[in-house]
Amino acid sequence: MSIADNIAHVRSVITESCKSAGRNPEDVTLIAVSKTKPVSMLKEAYDAGCRDFGENKVQEIMDKYDKLPGDIRWHMIGHLQTNKVKYIIDKVYMIHSVDSTKLADVISKEAVKHGVTMKILLEVNVAGEDSKFGTASDEACKLWEYAAALPGIEVCGLMTVAPYTDDPETNRQYFVVLHDLAVDISRKRKDNDIGIYLSMGMTGDYAVAIEEGASFVRVGTGIFGERNYT
Ligand SMILES: *Cc1c(COP(=O)(O)O)cnc(C)c1O
Repeated sequence: MSIADNIAHVRSVITESCKSAGRNPEDVTLIAVSKTKPVSMLKEAYDAGCRDFGENKVQEIMDKYDKLPGDIRWHMIGHLQTNKVKYIIDKVYMIHSVDSTKLADVISKEAVKHGVTMKILLEVNVAGEDSKFGTASDEACKLWEYAAALPGIEVCGLMTVAPYTDDPETNRQYFVVLHDLAVDISRKRKDNDIGIYLSMGMTGDYAVAIEEGASFVRVGTGIFGERNYT
């Protein structure tokens, strides 16, 4: 199957999942996760209509950014070191992986310096896995309040990386937790008519994530094939 075929398939699954959940497919954005993949493959995805790409390394965003069209929305979905924020602050559309006040502070400072407003999501480690980044669920609300008060930052929602599994149903509970957390946070905020975006669901479980309210699904393998890290 070509990349265009894969994207068509993923889009049809998104449409079906939205239908079964009574949601509007326009409320779900597909992010093509292109980490480790060459620019030529990203071009294929672009030609098939993708405008949202996800990368997890600052260097890779820098390498690819100038070689691809300017209307791409780059999503930083990986762990971000504070000393690298300055390289991507004027390049990425959204940072999905903010998990500390320290990182929020640096993003704020760099955004102000560059005269931009950075959209961010707070990464939550809902399953409490030791191997994962993200703030603990019971810290998310505090981190939200902290980040929302900083200049140059727009806190748009929550993100999680669910455990790797062969059975997507086992991850439904974590998507439910992230959604509930968003509901809690929006209740506590005065401007609670503003929607809270949820970035959740990967190749193995995005259909379930959509049923539980995902606004961004991050699909890599399902579009570009297996990654080769060697
Ligand atoms: C790699 C990655 C994905 C995509 O994973 P696939 O299983 O290949 O779809 C999604 N989110 C994050 C944060 C990733 O690092």
